[in-house]
Amino acid sequence: MPFLSKVYTSLQNELASNEVCIIAVSKTKPVEDLMDAYTAGVRDFGENYVQELVDKQSVLPTDIRWHFIGHLQTNKVKYIAPFVHLIQGVDSEKLLLEINKQGKKINRKINCLLQIYIAKEESKFGMNEDELKHVISILPTLEFVNITGLMGMASFSDNQTLIKQEFEYLHQLFNGIKQLSIPNFSPHILSMGMSADYKIAVECGSNMIRIGSMLFGERNYTR
Ligand SMILES: *Cc1c(COP(=O)(O)O)cnc(C)c1O
Repeated sequence: MPFLSKVYTSLQNELASNEVCIIAVSKTKPVEDLMDAYTAGVRDFGENYVQELVDKQSVLPTDIRWHFIGHLQTNKVKYIAPFVHLIQGVDSEKLLLEINKQGKKINRKINCLLQIYIAKEESKFGMNEDELKHVISILPTLEFVNITGLMGMASFSDNQTLIKQEFEYLHQLFNGIKQLSIPNFSPHILSMGMSADYKIAVECGSNMIRIGSMLFGERNYTR
């Protein structure tokens, strides 16, 4: 299924008053679909797999902002460090230290979001509040990262009340750290919401949503 440019346009209109950035999540989709999206005006793409991201980046226009939204393994940071616009899922101190190390090697400050665990599920990655506070405390020593905000994924659930509680919790956490004045820390992005729950997320203060299936159709997970 090709990129749904009409859906993209109506989503832009729907969110225009909220100043929400839409990330088109293109994982598993062929470059032709991404090029259709590019032609429709999309510049922010989200990918989950390092090799796939590197392959796509090498053949697509250079003004695309690539967001890495998956679970990033430390040994793969080096492949995306030179070009990635934002690493959204920084879920451990170890990963952040590696990103800083790779940034230093190429003298590039790398933008990151800290991923916070908000779901009532074992399967989701992310830091808790204590880990967040610890990581913030070591930021002055990490010159080659810039923490520009927080990211979270709600429970995979039909329970709207639960999802809302999870997003509201993250919003509060975000508000609590937003004013801190710390080197390498400039939090202004709150990335939460996907195809199924972006409306709730925006209600709860999200200003960046990551939309895949709604724009590109259902994914074939077997790849
Ligand atoms: C796949 C993915 C999305 C997009 O999901 P859809 O339900 O297809 O919109 C958003 N965020 C993350 C972290 C993802 O892995």
